[in-house]
Amino acid sequence: MSGIDATQIVLASRPDGRPTTDNFRLETTSLPAISPGQLLLRTDYLSLDPYMRGRMSGAKSYAEPTPVGGLMEGSGVATVLESKHPDFREGDVVLARTGWRTHAVSDAAGLRKLDDTLAPVTTALGVLGMPGFTAYSGMKMIGKPKQGDTVVVAAASGPVGSLVGQIAKRAGARSVGIAGGKEKCAFAKSMFGFDEVVDHKSADFAQQLAEVCPKGIDVYFENVGGAVWQAVLPLLNTYARVPVCGLISQYNSFPAGDSQALLAQTMHTVLARSLTLRGYINSEFAGELYPSFLGEIGGAVASGEIRYREDFIDGLENAPVGLIGLLEGNNFGKLIVRVNVR
Ligand code: NDP
Repeated sequence: MSGIDATQIVLASRPDGRPTTDNFRLETTSLPAISPGQLLLRTDYLSLDPYMRGRMSGAKSYAEPTPVGGLMEGSGVATVLESKHPDFREGDVVLARTGWRTHAVSDAAGLRKLDDTLAPVTTALGVLGMPGFTAYSGMKMIGKPKQGDTVVVAAASGPVGSLVGQIAKRAGARSVGIAGGKEKCAFAKSMFGFDEVVDHKSADFAQQLAEVCPKGIDVYFENVGGAVWQAVLPLLNTYARVPVCGLISQYNSFPAGDSQALLAQTMHTVLARSLTLRGYINSEFAGELYPSFLGEIGGAVASGEIRYREDFIDGLENAPVGLIGLLEGNNFGKLIVRVNVR
């Protein structure tokens, strides 16, 4: 035995609609001693991400569901406590698929060493990690913003939306953000340089969005679906591009309302305006684009040209409440759990 008792969180039951803390269970497990080729990791930071809601569901999707009783999946920043692997030493800090647990034994598959002299290590979970790459690849491969375009994105204060807005500006486009509440809207405008930010919780949201997009929308980066999509649809210009990245408003439940009418309206607009709607999972583009992403966005983060916001919660035991809140907009920036650091 390694002598380490790891605390972990497993899926206790599948949620029906909005998850509750009863859907999660905290457990303690003794880790085995590591074998040659393995490492013992201490999870310092755990990333909480919207995709985790999908894994809690039994429905068929692009990835296998987490089995009931199985460890909640997730990526973390971890410190190597012990190494029997030639490429890693005690004290190295790595990005790893730790799952929701305080310590993990790893065979080093998929580990990436992190260098905190280049950027704070937590950026590997946000702006310089999977969410940042999602924004970068979706804009590069599908959104393709040009000088003078109007680019719209929701969840504008989060890690994907905030980078989409900044990439739009770097391309010479006008960026319009959508966020929930006055504070997030004001912050997204001042911190991420959005030309306008509209509050999707205001009663006249659709009208406000139309007013700040007087020339229509050329790129709509879809993060949320539902009522936001309904407001965006009539504003899309001919040949508009729509990277379909996420539909967070639908992760807990499909919205009520006349879905047949919305589908018919969507398909009519796709045809009449020659729209390109393209769904994607970021991993599709990783082989082709990850090095250029790390070079370009890594450099811009280091120089301060690209900005980001992180939102920390303390203690692995608070991860369930964090994820539940993320799905409802309670986070303010990239949501990260401080597991073994304070
Ligand atoms: P965020 O940190 O931005 O958190 C999610 C945000 O979504 C909330 O803070 C909230 O912001 C917003 N939101 C929640 N419910 C609603 C709603 N009903 N209407 C409008 N906005 C809502 O998340 P990420 O940046 O990590 O992810 C953004 C999107 O990108 C998600 O849909 C996610 O699933 C998707 N994604 C897709 C990937 C892919 O490979 N295709 C990979 C990574 C992420 P606010 O309070 O401002 O409304």
